Amino acid sequence: MFQYIFFLISRSLPDFFETCCLYIIVGSFSAVDFFNQVNLLYSTLTEFCTAENCPTMTAGPKYEYRWADGGQIKKPIKVSAPKYVDYLMDWIESQLDDQSFFPQKLGVPFPPNFKEVVKTIFKKLFRVYAHVYHSHFQKIVSLKEEAHLNTCFKHFILFTSEFGVIDKKELAPLQDLIDSIIVPS
Ligand SMILES: [Zn+2]
Repeated sequence: MFQYIFFLISRSLPDFFETCCLYIIVGSFSAVDFFNQVNLLYSTLTEFCTAENCPTMTAGPKYEYRWADGGQIKKPIKVSAPKYVDYLMDWIESQLDDQSFFPQKLGVPFPPNFKEVVKTIFKKLFRVYAHVYHSHFQKIVSLKEEAHLNTCFKHFILFTSEFGVIDKKELAPLQDLIDSIIVPS
């Protein structure tokens, strides 16, 4: 991954550099990092976050998420929380593995929807955090993973708010927690 970043930096296309480079370097690199963190955290909950316990993907009583990937599943479908996370992780992995999406050859441009897809990745990773905090926090505490979860989420929120990656309305299910992380200067 670091080689890839250096490769990106070494590209000397000024307009690319000026408009997208920072975003892409940070965005692509961090997307992989944050994806791995969420994957790891969620993997400790799989025996508790089941289709029986969590028949819908929710973030508290007010928010329910349906799955669509814009490809095979265009119309959002109602799925259980574990199915949603399954779909999500597979979808993110396919995006990260897609050579046309993260081109690694000189002269191959990034696709026009690059930013949009990166934003969607972060928006949906946030939903996993929102579900975990609302539905499984007590289990996280009993597993003594509370500090780890809070640290991962804090990094996630500080990064995404710095780059404005997630729309504010999407953050509503965890707004109080986020407000406690981001103290106005
Ligand atoms: Zn669950």
